[in-house]
Amino acid sequence: RGKKAFIAGVADDQGFGWAIAKCLAEAGAEISLGVWVPALNIFETSLRRGKFDESRKLSNGSLMEFAHVYPMDAVFDTLEDVPQDVKENKRYAGSEGWTVSECAAKVGKDWGNVDILVHSLANGPEVQKPLLETSRRGYLAAMSASSYSFVSLLQRFGPLMTEGGAAISLTYIAADRVIPGYGGGMSSAKAALESDTKVLAYEAGRKYGVRVNTISAGPLGSRAAKAIGFIDDMIRYSYENAAMKKELAATEVGNVATFLLSPLASAVTGQTVYVDNGLSIMGLAM
Ligand code: NAD
Repeated sequence: RGKKAFIAGVADDQGFGWAIAKCLAEAGAEISLGVWVPALNIFETSLRRGKFDESRKLSNGSLMEFAHVYPMDAVFDTLEDVPQDVKENKRYAGSEGWTVSECAAKVGKDWGNVDILVHSLANGPEVQKPLLETSRRGYLAAMSASSYSFVSLLQRFGPLMTEGGAAISLTYIAADRVIPGYGGGMSSAKAALESDTKVLAYEAGRKYGVRVNTISAGPLGSRAAKAIGFIDDMIRYSYENAAMKKELAATEVGNVATFLLSPLASAVTGQTVYVDNGLSIMGLAM
């Protein structure tokens, strides 16, 4: 049977989450999405109106289908965690059951179990501020949305996962090298995510027989990256300095994700795998 993959962090066809969905679909997996609540309406409307049809095309000519599209906000674990103003916010009031635990419960009800878990989301409200100017609130918000969200997802989806299943997240080299401009505690959040990848690989490996890896991706002009502000410079820098002189395609990350999530990678866990055209190996580029 086709593997069942839950992908958190898709809201359009431009980011890594979409590319991973597509590569997994090409490999025969069934795909369900967790879409950030404030982005759900426009995503569903665009999907319905055929705006993504071109990007949904699979190599056999059919269109990628989504088994389920769930609203999700990965900064809330249970309904009790949701503050009143969010509950009443009109972008949230229209949908329900979008905390991580409620979303996992729905997936459990609809699918019974899950083979693949993908975390392709991040958010740092103060990303444009240097760390030296980041507030406690902004820093903790970045950690909550970008790091703890993965812990939370694995906590809730782990019990649904089949033995031999696998989880993956997306990280960035700012976790261990200085990338000026990647601020607001986002570098800290990625460092936590990479460290947690090891601990969670051990814990989920022992508890569920599930592997956990993270892909450190090169720059891509996704919606989230455009919000940071310097993505075009990063793409140019990578093109000039990486070992491979080419622009990174989201599919290249999708393909490695599909490998890491497949039995071909059955002994690979706890790893940060660079998919960056080899930019990370360079000291001095000539
Ligand atoms: P993207 O905009 O396609 O994906 C980010 C997603 O996160 C969006 O769909 C957004 O709706 C969702 N999101 C934000 N807050 C959320 C929340 N609280 N709950 C649920 N969903 C939420 O952009 P992307 O660049 O493809 O990002 C995917 C991952 O790749 C992120 O972890 C990002 O840090 C990482 N990454 C990106 C780059 C790059 O250059 N684009 C490089 C390395 C790593």
